[in-house]
Amino acid sequence: MQIVNKAFINGVFVTPHGTQQLELENPATGETITRVTLADEVDTKNAIAAANAAFKTYSQSSLQTRQEYLQRIHDVMVAKFDQLVDIINNEYGAPQWFTKFALQDAIRSWLVAKEQLKPETFRYHLKEGAEVILDPVGVAALISPWNISLWFMCVKASTAIAAGCTVVMKPSELSAQQNNAMAEIFKEANLPPGLINVLNGNGEVVGNELTRNPGIHKISFTGSTAVGKLLLKNAADTMKRVTLELGGKSPSIIVEDADLEKAIPFVLQVGLQNSGQACIAGSRILIPESREAEITAALKKGVEAMKVGPATNQESAIGPLVSKRQYERVQDYIKKGIEEGAVLLTGGLGHPDGLEKGNFVKPTVFVKVDNHMTIAQEEIFGPVLSVITYKDDADAIRIANDSIYGLHAYIAGTDTARAKKIAEQLQAGRIAINGFVDEPRAPFGGFKQSGIGREFGKYGLEAFLEPKAVFDI
Ligand code: NAD
Repeated sequence: MQIVNKAFINGVFVTPHGTQQLELENPATGETITRVTLADEVDTKNAIAAANAAFKTYSQSSLQTRQEYLQRIHDVMVAKFDQLVDIINNEYGAPQWFTKFALQDAIRSWLVAKEQLKPETFRYHLKEGAEVILDPVGVAALISPWNISLWFMCVKASTAIAAGCTVVMKPSELSAQQNNAMAEIFKEANLPPGLINVLNGNGEVVGNELTRNPGIHKISFTGSTAVGKLLLKNAADTMKRVTLELGGKSPSIIVEDADLEKAIPFVLQVGLQNSGQACIAGSRILIPESREAEITAALKKGVEAMKVGPATNQESAIGPLVSKRQYERVQDYIKKGIEEGAVLLTGGLGHPDGLEKGNFVKPTVFVKVDNHMTIAQEEIFGPVLSVITYKDDADAIRIANDSIYGLHAYIAGTDTARAKKIAEQLQAGRIAINGFVDEPRAPFGGFKQSGIGREFGKYGLEAFLEPKAVFDI
């Protein structure tokens, strides 16, 4: 068992003032693998003070200095690649290919942030005469979820420190080993004290303090829409700048002219990615009425060919869910789908055969789903897909947009012009046609209750900057 009993504050590992302990299990085996001591309000205040002290100097740092820090963190991560894969496998349990893909992406984020650092981003003249100067917004709280904690930590922190902000990170308390590994990386990269502080702690304690404390000027939050709303209200009193990356119920539209050889693997990849624990999962599959029988048969065959298993098995396509609680939550949704009259095409309640120990869920596809059913409206965050039929393109667009969410959408179709016409009418922050795209320079974020603001590239950087216009008359 690994003991995580330190907080990373002001460049050193300290024993937290908080004494509450939490035990975490390997999601594939149920074995207890971590005991973490959680930080409290006192630790949070200490971290905020350290970040504010560091901000005085760091906010004035040259772009070259920031580039050096970003490069150093990147290099330390590269050297620890295999060790980090093991930690994620053990703690989170995602299939190997997904862990490696996410980790490579996380490592790349430090270089993508470095590449954003051009003088003209921070200071330029408008034709109308004003000089625009973009200052770092202040101390940023970075609050993130467990569906590969380390990835969120890297994407958020790289952008924040590129902008000249100092940070207090509160990643998910369910990811203590990853959080600790990242803190060790920051320590090894020999950054200025207080530039990046990392706390393991509960949302209600550390998260709550971060969202109310006047020493925090910006919150970058990724997590559920329910917590996002609470956080927005709490942050209003001190008028913090807030970026919210929240939930989704993304549609995958199979257009009538789709080639199923390509469309089925695509919609299953995006629907079941990260074992369904993905905000961008294409969890509603919209199919034309005219091809219902053919498409549902192909979906059944495709899902049943996907192997469920632990990260230690290279062939696993779908891993366990992060916790018993998440397993139970997903079971409740499957029950609800059955109760509301949806029809099971494959999967269902309980564990897959032979995988009774961990938090494994049977990959489940419901057909005959009405878009107003709970399983089509609420985010399940597990390997459960809802198939909904539509009459024509306009009907598909109407159903796709009939959601409180608007994070992502996917379209599979042969006629690209037709697919693009559909894309233009969808309310979603990202739309991928005929393939999944992982582009860290394009904006990422949600319409409607999927969030506020954008991350990635120059859009993400600007979210950590405050523009001021100087007129020299
Ligand atoms: P969550 O909202 O429960 O927790 C997210 C983070 O917020 C955690 O660190 C948690 O400790 C903290 N938190 C909880 N209560 C808080 C409070 N009162 N004040 C401040 N912080 C608090 O989400 P989760 O269960 O960890 O993650 C799953 C959710 O995250 C899903 O809804 C998913 O869609 C969403 N998500 C969104 C994106 C995106 O980019 N849009 C990406 C991944 C996950």
